Amino acid sequence: MNRRLFLGSAGAILSTGTLAYTTRQPTDALEVRFWLSAQAAEYRGVSRRVREFLEVVLAFEYWTLEISHGGTVDISTEDGGQVTRRGEWPARLVAGSVSPNGSSSRADVNLLVTDGQMQEAPTGYGFSNVASVGGARHIAALESVEELGGSATEATEQWVVPDEDATRTMQILIHEVGHALGLGHEHGLSYRVDERDAVVATPMLSSYAWSPDYIGEYSQCGTTHPDPTGSSRKLQLSFSSCARSELETYSGGLGGPGGPGSLGATR
Ligand SMILES: [Zn+2]
Repeated sequence: MNRRLFLGSAGAILSTGTLAYTTRQPTDALEVRFWLSAQAAEYRGVSRRVREFLEVVLAFEYWTLEISHGGTVDISTEDGGQVTRRGEWPARLVAGSVSPNGSSSRADVNLLVTDGQMQEAPTGYGFSNVASVGGARHIAALESVEELGGSATEATEQWVVPDEDATRTMQILIHEVGHALGLGHEHGLSYRVDERDAVVATPMLSSYAWSPDYIGEYSQCGTTHPDPTGSSRKLQLSFSSCARSELETYSGGLGGPGGPGSLGATR
């Protein structure tokens, strides 16, 4: 998707977006809207889990959070990465053909959940205010926040869960939402727990924690990613401390040069 084209087609959005971007006031109200592909909507409980988990991981004192379900979308592919990368999902948002109020009702995060496969990257995609991810069947199988040890009333700083299909899918969903809000992989973190037994990856690093390309790379959080060889894998669903700090500066703008669109959001 050509980002300039996307912005250019959204004249009304652009003018208000530019204003917000110029003043750079951090937002005090965050709006997240999600849709399900028709196929994703066939699984029970997907929207409940999406809402429940986002309510927890985005619960910060610096904004009020509004999460809404935009409905069901007929889409030509269930591929959670390609549906955004090839422009279909952003184009639908610009055209206003996914919500009754048209494009002016665009939220800070506009997330599409599909039934795409979650084995081979890219399984999702995220850039300025737009995100998509596959894996609806895994989200339907996900345990509740409480069953996974999360707190529904406050954002747990280090909310660590086992690395399974369902939890991994939710972490990638959170990862793409992070990209939509301007976060990059450098806001991710991996760290060792239980002496040498496990390495934990936070959402913005996600499975890249197990990739040789990222081992030893520096995180904005001030640490380097450990070599996970021989360690078991765990996932943190809450954002890292440096991701939280970055989110606090989110101004509702679309991002400038070097903004989220250029961060190489490959999944
Ligand atoms: Zn990414």
